[in-house]
Amino acid sequence: MNPISIAFYSPVRGSGVSTLLTHIFEIAPELIAGKTVLLDCDLEFPTISAFFKTNLIREKTTKVFQPLLNRSHCIICKSCAKACAFGAIQVFQNMSYVRFEPALCRACGACIHTCQYNALTESAYEIATWRHLDAGERREILEGDLWADDFFYTRALQASRDFIQEQELILIDARGGMDFISLEAMHHANLLVLVIDVTLFSPEPYRQIFKNLLAHGKKLVVVVNRSGIVPEPLRQLCVELSLPIAGCLPFNQGIPRNAVLGELMTSGKTLTKDIFSNILRNLLLNAGHRTFLPV
Ligand code: SF4
Ligand code: SF4
Repeated sequence: MNPISIAFYSPVRGSGVSTLLTHIFEIAPELIAGKTVLLDCDLEFPTISAFFKTNLIREKTTKVFQPLLNRSHCIICKSCAKACAFGAIQVFQNMSYVRFEPALCRACGACIHTCQYNALTESAYEIATWRHLDAGERREILEGDLWADDFFYTRALQASRDFIQEQELILIDARGGMDFISLEAMHHANLLVLVIDVTLFSPEPYRQIFKNLLAHGKKLVVVVNRSGIVPEPLRQLCVELSLPIAGCLPFNQGIPRNAVLGELMTSGKTLTKDIFSNILRNLLLNAGHRTFLPV
């Protein structure tokens, strides 16, 4: 069975994505029978695991290899610069100088293989460390210290797939904003959840953001944060673009207070638990999941 993969995202950082995701991850075992994996890849210092008692299953660092120049072997022949399709090497023959630009290098190795004078060797560059954690009750967390951007972020993200096996549900904490990294983290998800903080909402910029995301061909669902009801302009926009609203998260001072204490709101508090449970059920239904554990 293919897993259901749901990415949580907000165009504006600080809109409550991690709060929502943390609580949904907590209650997931009550709704689904299989394993839930939370992929924390938002480039912030990993935060979600702090709310759970976890045991480390394994840790793995991913490296790429960039060229390291030994100038004493280099004869300034220019072959490496010609071999590089990314413009990462410039050779100034008049000045007998080879210049390497790490930010442009894609670690393809072509220059190293081209140099016949052993002037280029491989130098390891760490792009990510993934920690695979058991959070109990059929839950696992995959949290990344990701140092890469753009091109290497894709590779860093791919490395996480080595860890994910036999899961029923993948929850992805995608970075906020509309840059490459945010979109890449969402790329493989079946469903995108847009968390909208109503205090930061205005229709026009969001209309364009929703349209841009829909243009990627993904199914979109909205979760409203900081309000128990959907504000009318947001409701109208969702109707206009046929975006389902999976639920509302009313403002509750207890959530940030408890977060500071490292506690989850769902434990022992039926009302809050029901809110997150209903949101997750709606998200799963929108993602095509139909089998739930009995309450
Ligand atoms: S291919 Fe080797 S020898 Fe030629 S310029 Fe590049 S590093 Fe120097
Ligand atoms: S490893 Fe590839 S991308 Fe990097 S400098 Fe060499 S040829 Fe260019």
